[in-house]
Amino acid sequence: MSNRATGLSRRDVLKLAATAGVGAGLAGGPFGLAAQAIGGSWPFELPELPYAENALEPFIDTRTMGIHHGKHHAGYTKKLNAALEGSDLVDLPINDILADLDAAPEDIRTSVRNNGGGYANHSLYWQIMSPDGGGEPSGPLAEAIGSAFGSYGEFQTAFAAAAGGVFGSGWAWLVADGGALSISTTPNQDTPLMQGRTPILGIDVWEHAYYLHYQNRRADYIAAFFNIINWERVGELYLSA
Ligand code: MN
Repeated sequence: MSNRATGLSRRDVLKLAATAGVGAGLAGGPFGLAAQAIGGSWPFELPELPYAENALEPFIDTRTMGIHHGKHHAGYTKKLNAALEGSDLVDLPINDILADLDAAPEDIRTSVRNNGGGYANHSLYWQIMSPDGGGEPSGPLAEAIGSAFGSYGEFQTAFAAAAGGVFGSGWAWLVADGGALSISTTPNQDTPLMQGRTPILGIDVWEHAYYLHYQNRRADYIAAFFNIINWERVGELYLSA
């Protein structure tokens, strides 16, 4: 990287950029607010839940939240750090790593894909839920949903169908591509970031996200999810995408 010539490492530059503050994040681009919120570079840290483990009851039960965050997300974080240790990728933010997996050495690429995706996906997932969530989006995001899907109700139907249709483990997403919105799904811990697109809302449909409370009733978990979507946060992510 050309900054080497200035004596600044990539990590220094990123730290300087972070010090420059929120304005830099709001300037947007695919690695704007979303990257800032996920934040940092190696060693990645498990982000704290933005609410108590029982805050999303009865839609997501306390035990599922505790295991999901404290075991699953913590596990992805730990394995991602172990995979990256000693590689050239340690100075990069996670979004950059995931957007260019081909740059990862072949012997760690699968681990970076699975655990890096898991790290990033769950970091987003906690943020886009809230005990004060639910209802409908407002402002520019509401307008964009209207243009893309016709109405909020039609978006809801399409998103639920996409999430219900994921075979096995994966995610359904609301993705911003420039200003345009679309729904997509990914298998395993893959993320739209790997296709250069920005996820602004995602639902985890791995069984570990719902099985303790809902067992095989994935559709009930998906229906419940709409009661806890943090549309304010999703709207911020949309504006920064
Ligand atoms: Mn999960």
